[in-house]
Amino acid sequence: MRILVTGGAGFIGSHLCERLLADGHEVMCLDNFYTGRRANIARLLSNTDFEVIRHDVTQSILLEPDRIFHLACPASPVHYQWNPVKTVKTNVMGTINMLGLAKRVKARLLHASTSEVYGDPEVHPQREDYWGNVNPIGPRSCYDEGKRVAETLCFDYHRQNGVDIRVVRIFNTYGPRMLMNDGRVVSNFVVQALRGEDITLYGDGSQTRSFCYVDDLIEAMVRMMNNDEHIGPVNLGNPGEFTILQLAQLVVELTGSSSNLVRRPLPKDDPTRRRPDITRAREWLGWEPTVQLREGLGRTIDYFEQLLRDGEPERVKMRTGGP
Ligand code: NAD
Ligand code: UDP
Repeated sequence: MRILVTGGAGFIGSHLCERLLADGHEVMCLDNFYTGRRANIARLLSNTDFEVIRHDVTQSILLEPDRIFHLACPASPVHYQWNPVKTVKTNVMGTINMLGLAKRVKARLLHASTSEVYGDPEVHPQREDYWGNVNPIGPRSCYDEGKRVAETLCFDYHRQNGVDIRVVRIFNTYGPRMLMNDGRVVSNFVVQALRGEDITLYGDGSQTRSFCYVDDLIEAMVRMMNNDEHIGPVNLGNPGEFTILQLAQLVVELTGSSSNLVRRPLPKDDPTRRRPDITRAREWLGWEPTVQLREGLGRTIDYFEQLLRDGEPERVKMRTGGP
């Protein structure tokens, strides 16, 4: 099949492109390179089934894919809050453009939604039938509400126009190719530990997250795209739940670092706990994560160690406009 991956040069998108090529598909990777990097897809460029399109999803585009994985959107709070209006545009206009394309060419579209649609959840663990607890006017709203509207758009295009949608709600995912200065907790802690810098614990570190290794996530996304019975939403994540303090201690142990843990203020509206109920993913997809945190962190540490050894320049620029 000919498959379009928006956000294909990003962390998750680049792993997905690689997997789809390995499965024998033609892949069009569309990205505006806001948080994506050419380095993520460098080894795919020589593959004749792989094509890169530099484009911003907030602008419409005419392509003829059979399937669309719609991932384009910055995922780290630091990046999505840099230009919050742009984040809303990416989620709303970008998703309308991709759903419009799916409608026109009758492609199946899988939308990468997020556990953030549950906000700071009052129900724990989170099931797909929980409607969430989201602040509509806070610093995280551009992303949380943007993703909620994107889900609404998917279901309205489905009901109104018969577009063949799949919606997955991704919980915190980590692994190689996260940006070094990404601001997300795993990359921050690992890089800080490897550099012997202070490890920045926001708040008292008692807030929890559930961390899914990227390979597990990609397998689930592919299974959901190929599923002919269910459209979603479906939670994809690892139900193992850790406090941020536990994560910091594990990173220190695995890196053998002498870094100190230091407290920093807790960002506004930071969710206190998060864990997916993955009953639906188990039943619909026959899937559950296989990589435990210790093992996945080990692979991630190896990746960042190599990057630091190679002196990879930190190239992410905070851009305010389009490409
Ligand atoms: P990422 O920032 O590495 O990747 C996002 C990609 O989208 C980047 O390559 C970026 O350049 C591109 N992009 C951003 N705005 C764009 C635009 N307007 N037009 C075209 N391209 C654009 O993030 P990621 O972790 O790989 O996340 C990928 C998707 O998965 C996102 O939609 C994110 O919301 C979702 N998600 C990720 C996680 C996670 O833990 N990583 C959790 C929940 C949901
Ligand atoms: N966090 C932290 N130190 C950091 C970066 C993040 O303590 O250097 C915390 C953050 O406050 C949050 C958790 O780690 O409670 C996960 O943050 P991340 O930005 O990775 O993702 P999200 O909040 O979107 O789940």
